[in-house]
Amino acid sequence: MRDGMVEVMARVISQKGTCAAGHQVGDEFSIGETTPSGMCSWAFHALFPFAEVLKYGGSFPWEDDPGKATIACPDPGTPVVFELRRSSASQGQQKHGG
Ligand SMILES: [Zn+2]
Repeated sequence: MRDGMVEVMARVISQKGTCAAGHQVGDEFSIGETTPSGMCSWAFHALFPFAEVLKYGGSFPWEDDPGKATIACPDPGTPVVFELRRSSASQGQQKHGG
C-alpha cells in the first residue's frame, strides 16, 4: 500500500487565543496511514473525515481548489483553522484532469 499512497497535508492558516495544543500558523502535519503526532485530538477528530475524502479523490463544492479543504478546530475559545491539501507521496502517480 506504500506505492502511490496519497497523503494529505494539514497546515495551520489561522490561530486565535491560546491553543491548548500549542498550534501556530505555519505548523504542518501529514495525515497518512497513521495519526499525526502532536496534533490537537479535537482538531484531528474534526478534520479526519475531510482528509479521507481528499485522500480518496473527493472534493468539496464550496472550495475553489478541488484538492483542498479548510477546517476549523471546534474549540470556540481558541479557533485554529487548518488547510488540508491532497498531495501524492510518490512520483508518477499523479492523476491528470479530464
Ligand atoms: Zn484544538
